[in-house]
Amino acid sequence: MKYIEPHAHMVSRITDDYMKITMAGCQAVCEPAFWAGFDRSSAQGFYDYFCQLTEHEPKRAGKFGLPHFCWLCINPKEAEDVKLAEEVIALIPRFLNGPNVLGIGEIGLNKNSRNELKVLELHVDVAARHDQLILVHTPHLEDKLKGTRLIVDMLKNDKRIRPERVIIDHVEEHTIKLVLDSGMWAGMTLYPESKCTPARAIDMVEVYGNERVWMNSACDWGISDPLAVPRTALAMKKRGHTVEAIEKLVLQNPSTFLSQCPKFKLG
Ligand SMILES: [Zn+2]
Repeated sequence: MKYIEPHAHMVSRITDDYMKITMAGCQAVCEPAFWAGFDRSSAQGFYDYFCQLTEHEPKRAGKFGLPHFCWLCINPKEAEDVKLAEEVIALIPRFLNGPNVLGIGEIGLNKNSRNELKVLELHVDVAARHDQLILVHTPHLEDKLKGTRLIVDMLKNDKRIRPERVIIDHVEEHTIKLVLDSGMWAGMTLYPESKCTPARAIDMVEVYGNERVWMNSACDWGISDPLAVPRTALAMKKRGHTVEAIEKLVLQNPSTFLSQCPKFKLG
């Protein structure tokens, strides 16, 4: 089965994971900029990370014949320091013409603070001025509904942003409808313990349909599963979903969204 992994933090994964996802049918992997698990101490740390995402990691994936794409930003967890965020955001435009850069992400909110909102606005402005796709991280647990509302409202109020060029990731049962009703795309993150299990993701597809939806593993340095997308495809098959319906969700939908950036190509 062919599929796209639209959200994975491969810099945190071992080389065997590249081997496994390639053998499972992965045709392209996309890596949003993320929190390293610790706060970086300067904009220079982000500069090095952006070089890693745009130069080194595509080469590492290339050893398995796998196209690697990335998204750039300072993640919401490090957005409390607005001055640092401004310095990092100022670095982004020089990377945007890189051949594997798809857009701005994963931006968004973590604790829904005033500073996070300010930094989110700065990112959206860069995306609008440079005509970039946007990938959004939504907060965890009790902050998710409020945070998702704040993000969707901000994006809807910016008339420069076309909703079909935005994906709101980590949706759950109580936020997916809000996102789809806005005209934006919804990403379901398949985590073994939190966010959304494969069974819950399939339930959501059965209730809300399979238009403008994708699934990802968001595998990173924490408890996560780089094979979560093919594992969920298998679970869909067991539930009686057709091969065409599964392929739409794991291959065609992410391809449709990502191909809005002309640089995106499958392997
Ligand atoms: Zn992520």
